Amino acid sequence: MNLEFERKLTIPMETKAMYPVTPELEPIVAERAKALREIFEGRDRRLLLIIGPCSADRADSVLEYLDRLRRVRERVEEKIFLVPRLFTNKPRTAGDGYMGLVHQPDPTVRPDPYKGIIAVRALHLRALRETGFTCADEMLYPENHRYLDDLLAYVSVGARSVEDQQHRLTASGLGIPVGMKNPLSGDLRVVMHSIHAAQTGHTFIYRGWAVHSKGNPHAHAILRGSRAGDGRSRPNYHYEDLRRLLDLYREFGHQNPAVLIDANHDNSGKDPFQQPRILRDVLRSCRIDPELRTLVKGFLVESYLEDGCQSVGGATYGQSITDPCLGWEKTERLIYDLAELA
Ligand code: PEP
Ligand code: MN
Repeated sequence: MNLEFERKLTIPMETKAMYPVTPELEPIVAERAKALREIFEGRDRRLLLIIGPCSADRADSVLEYLDRLRRVRERVEEKIFLVPRLFTNKPRTAGDGYMGLVHQPDPTVRPDPYKGIIAVRALHLRALRETGFTCADEMLYPENHRYLDDLLAYVSVGARSVEDQQHRLTASGLGIPVGMKNPLSGDLRVVMHSIHAAQTGHTFIYRGWAVHSKGNPHAHAILRGSRAGDGRSRPNYHYEDLRRLLDLYREFGHQNPAVLIDANHDNSGKDPFQQPRILRDVLRSCRIDPELRTLVKGFLVESYLEDGCQSVGGATYGQSITDPCLGWEKTERLIYDLAELA
């Protein structure tokens, strides 16, 4: 093999011992997990809002963002269930560029996954301890879920991973809701197959073990828009898209039919300022058609302290180094508006 084995990583048990979920934090994790299950089972009618930067690039600005979100939470929690987006691993279209905290705990120096894996655990634990939030992350490396399985609220499988067997089978063994994003092609049957795989029990290979999963009844769809060969973004949050998804759920007969709308990416054409309008549009469709309101459980929004984005190594504190985000003032307004409309 043309591989240099540089350094063995800490194993999940060691990493958890370094940054443990202490007994006083356990009820917070359990209570938030229960609320999320009830949202996906239709027993809690609050809207789920997964919101935060495209990538959790540094601890100081991410924790400041979460602290601001904590203060907003108190005013909206009867209408909205907030889950911070703390995405620590980034899929890349052509494999180049910043790949997240797990690769580069400091984005300006060379990758160091040994430190990265510890930094990811440390950041999720600080988020919980300092702000009372359990967060959402992306499953880029299915094997890494074990580093976070005791404190994560939610996982999404990205548009570039959703057809991958290991992601699907791992999703079938998770105890938290998993969102399956539509692939870049926009093919919604792929999403349905992915949910089928995740909701079914399997025997497979995981972290050097033969394992059995029971199936995850809370696996569901995320619509993030599509981008076909011509490179143009095509949204899929409109009324017709939601009705089509409902028809597909009926055809496939999955448990707990549900969708989250990702308001950025190819739904906004990466114009983050479209996100408030997209949320309003989806809620209007839900008001016109109550069946859609039972399907639509909430939204993903990309937001940070500052509007827009900068290049990796840019000097603006709290501005995204990957996809452009909505800044804090607009974010606050978006959350309060959503609470009024919910
Ligand atoms: C993201 O969430 O930043 C992302 C890369 O999403 P997707 O997998 O939908 O492209
Ligand atoms: Mn993004």
